[in-house]
Amino acid sequence: MELVIDRVRLGDLFGTYHEQGYLIVSGDRIEAVGEGPAPEVSGARRIDADGRLLTPGLVNAHAHLYSSLARGVSIPGFSPRSFGEILEGLWWRLDRALEPEDVYWSAMVGGLQHLRAGVTALLDHHASPGAIEGALSQIRRAVVDELGLRCDLCYEVTDRGGLAERDAGIAENLRAAKEDVLPGRCAAHMGLHASFTLSDQSLERAVQAAEPLNLPFHIHLAEGKEDVVDSLQRYGLRVAERLDKFGILREGTLLAHGIHLSQAELELLADRPASLIHNPRSNMNNAVGAAQVEKMLSRGINVGLGTDGYGCDIIGELLSASLLAHHTSGTPTALGDKLLLLLYHNYALAERFFGVPMGKLAPGYAADLVLWDYHPPTPITGGNLPWHLMFARISEGLSPHTVIGAGEVLLSCGQVSKVDEREALAKAREAAKRLWARI
Ligand SMILES: [Zn+2]
Repeated sequence: MELVIDRVRLGDLFGTYHEQGYLIVSGDRIEAVGEGPAPEVSGARRIDADGRLLTPGLVNAHAHLYSSLARGVSIPGFSPRSFGEILEGLWWRLDRALEPEDVYWSAMVGGLQHLRAGVTALLDHHASPGAIEGALSQIRRAVVDELGLRCDLCYEVTDRGGLAERDAGIAENLRAAKEDVLPGRCAAHMGLHASFTLSDQSLERAVQAAEPLNLPFHIHLAEGKEDVVDSLQRYGLRVAERLDKFGILREGTLLAHGIHLSQAELELLADRPASLIHNPRSNMNNAVGAAQVEKMLSRGINVGLGTDGYGCDIIGELLSASLLAHHTSGTPTALGDKLLLLLYHNYALAERFFGVPMGKLAPGYAADLVLWDYHPPTPITGGNLPWHLMFARISEGLSPHTVIGAGEVLLSCGQVSKVDEREALAKAREAAKRLWARI
């Protein structure tokens, strides 16, 4: 099926920008991009963009879809004084209460929110200790099969619920890697919660289990001070050093946060191919500190960007990364254009996991596209496009008019194409009501 998007402003982060152009999609790839009016393509579906702005779809490199049913939840007496108390008092109570149906509805709601934020690929990190087996299939069904997004799955292995749950978590990662992976659409990692909830024996087991499938890892790294203290006290190593001992800092591994890292750990990460995923809004919300993103980038560490379940607004997250860097360094130019490396890296990760070139408006690249309802008040150039998006987001609430995922129209004129959104939200509200009563 061919699709022609005509009368469009189009641009990516790699310098492509056409003030008046067109883009042709064939199958799941971009076939042609050009200036001026689109050529006639017989039999193709035509979208008249009326001067709106077309960009590649966004990537969220660390998501927690399971948190989607927590919006507005209130837990009596919950007044956390630390990151550890936030985990124990909220997230570990919520995730334990999730039943298979809640996993599905949280993924559907979270998937819809990603779609409406222009995110076409997400790397999820899931926990539902009361419903482990088959949980990742529920996510795939909602997000990949029904909504049409690309999703990388993993289940967080942890010791916190005992050894049987730990082993069920490892088994679920392996099951999904064998049964749910769909080339180009659905990928998998071996999920690990964090160093402080995993013994040496558990890390060993997870690493051994991942080996035959060559699965990289998706884990939280030194998010709170608790992780560092635990690792030093129990193992005499800092967290990154401990994970490295098990070979976890390998190609394709995603290390979320990386806040409490020593200079030696930064050197170690620079020496390893694993990627660090920055989540500035979640970090500010949990008051855990700020990752040293500028130092990481200047050492050559691959740094991507995620939301950590704190919404799914990657453009807003990018602006927050800039603000946080300014604020913590006391320098209003901190990060500067290096900020965009976070987005580039997200595309590189998605490319690796889904096996399709991503992030450019060029022939052969994935037809993952967002047509933003945006008519700029000032000129757009190849270089200032991200700043347009960020300021449009905070000024006018920039949102997608049309979203295309792998060549398929997933959102059209603001309407979700493949799912009855109102009905899905109504069912999710019912599921959330029952879930909240169990917490
Ligand atoms: Zn996380």
